[in-house]
Amino acid sequence: MAAAARIESVETLLVDVPTIRPHRLSVATMNCQTLVLVRIRCSDGVTGIGEGTTIGGLAYGEESPESIKVNIDTYFAPLLKGLDATRPGAAMAKLRKLFQGNRFAKCAVETALFDAQAQRIGVPLSELFGGRVTDSVEVAWTLASGDTRRDIDEAEQMLDRRRHRVFKLKIGSNAVADDVAHVVAIKKALGERGDVRVDVNQAWSESDTIWALPRFADAGVSLVEQPIAATNHAGLKRLADLARVPIMADEALHGPADAFALASNRCADVFAVKIAQSGGLLGAASVASIAFAASIDLYGGTMLEGAIGTIASAQLFSTFSTLKWGSELFGPLLLTEEILTEPLRYEDFSLHLPQGPGLGITLDWERIERLRR
Ligand SMILES: [Mg+2]
Repeated sequence: MAAAARIESVETLLVDVPTIRPHRLSVATMNCQTLVLVRIRCSDGVTGIGEGTTIGGLAYGEESPESIKVNIDTYFAPLLKGLDATRPGAAMAKLRKLFQGNRFAKCAVETALFDAQAQRIGVPLSELFGGRVTDSVEVAWTLASGDTRRDIDEAEQMLDRRRHRVFKLKIGSNAVADDVAHVVAIKKALGERGDVRVDVNQAWSESDTIWALPRFADAGVSLVEQPIAATNHAGLKRLADLARVPIMADEALHGPADAFALASNRCADVFAVKIAQSGGLLGAASVASIAFAASIDLYGGTMLEGAIGTIASAQLFSTFSTLKWGSELFGPLLLTEEILTEPLRYEDFSLHLPQGPGLGITLDWERIERLRR
């Protein structure tokens, strides 16, 4: 049977957008985010959009914005050209068979293919993944200015505006005792009004973490994310077994195979599921299924993507039966420039999903062309 639509072209763009303030992580300080956008044009006139953004160039993962672009342009695009656009799963299976790794690049392409197909059928992207359980996803805010007073002020503002009530603190770049004091001071200032969690981004040793956990538990910190090296699954399990504060796996989780290994040994209480880290929406859906089967709770993670990766994630997360720890889909709020004609709707502590077909967003191409590298 002849395909109703074929993939005609795959185009990539690097878009540099300044952040609203320096965003300090243990691995990098960001003053700018580079969005890698993918535009797939199909023979039936449908265009799909995807995003493959990472954090801090090559600081967070093994893909950089530049590597994502060059590998899509050089390897993925020629393979995809001419394939049946109505079968994203088949196109991605072919791509995965031929090309190793490159999860972020694969996520960008897969998102664009699913966006196009959902538009073609006339349904929101979420409907291709089982349909929505909810139309909104709670969104945490990350406090990462590096300054305790400034972080408290920022949290108070977010509470006043009813934009966020869950705060994730990026720590790990200072002495452990200083970081713990910083976290405890913020939790004390916010009290019951704010849920305070920490993300150490692998910066601590196991003994650092063992020292910090009871202090966090006493202060009322709700969750500790990836305190130790991603490769140290056994250490993560020992920390989770202490049962002081729930432990979340993030960098340790590179898709379904890691999810299965971590779940088999019950190495974490919570999984941060990310579409980019999982190699795309299909991989992230598998990670979620493994978590559900193992009674591991879920948190909707971000690579600080712009609007496209953010709404793609939200479309998938909205189909999960539960998302106990909410999400951190605030990426677009960290950027100084709006790349949509109508911004994403953040209200009442949540991101509200659009109702239109595909991703349900319209890009402001004029502005994107201006920001394009
Ligand atoms: Mg993290």
